[in-house]
Amino acid sequence: MLTSALVALERLLLPNACVACSRQVAAATPDDLVCPVCRSRVRAVPAGCARCGQPLPPVGPCRFCRDWPAALDQVSSAVWMGDEARAMIHHLKYEGYTRLSDEIAKRMAAVIVHPGPSLLVPIPLAPTRLRQRGYNQAAGIARSLGRLWRVKVDPGVLARIRETRSQTELTPTERSENVARAFMATPAPPHQRRVILVDDVLTTGATLAAAASALDAVGWRRIGAVTFARALPFTVRLDLG
Ligand SMILES: [Zn+2]
Ligand SMILES: [Zn+2]
Repeated sequence: MLTSALVALERLLLPNACVACSRQVAAATPDDLVCPVCRSRVRAVPAGCARCGQPLPPVGPCRFCRDWPAALDQVSSAVWMGDEARAMIHHLKYEGYTRLSDEIAKRMAAVIVHPGPSLLVPIPLAPTRLRQRGYNQAAGIARSLGRLWRVKVDPGVLARIRETRSQTELTPTERSENVARAFMATPAPPHQRRVILVDDVLTTGATLAAAASALDAVGWRRIGAVTFARALPFTVRLDLG
């Protein structure tokens, strides 16, 4: 009842247009936040390294996940970070379009193999950033994905114990240093399920690696991760015509 009232209010207050291209969404699906054209332009990440999902180099082993902690054993992303995926994440994070987490989770569930019995743990924001933004986009995505997958979500397992600079302008090495020891985890229960970290974007994996290390330090094992988007490696070009 309350939810439908909120949706009605949102329809009234927010323009009923695609978040990526601003075109009106189809009248038949007035609740959509992304139009069919933009949805079709969001490209799935093809199969790559069995552990990290990154496209493999032409020769030799995967170098993308080489320095990740051993505890982080499997990471999947649903789509490449093209313009449309970037617009979706931007609107979810900064423009208050919290319902986009459902659209994003739907895409993830369509592409990423169900992890089996597990616990979804969103990557937390630092408390001050959470207060500023009022919303942790990773927790929103985890809740939506948990509903689709019928998997429990626990945002209380991980906490960010120190502020970190925005990763956007940093090199891969700086990213790792920036997020090292940024997280603290609650101790693993005796009969733990597989843990799946949830985040919006994977760039170098530094954040996921730091979070996995924090879990590993207090006894969590079998740690995987899923993200909606993945930064495009320079070797991959999206042919969008
Ligand atoms: Zn569109
Ligand atoms: Zn790899």
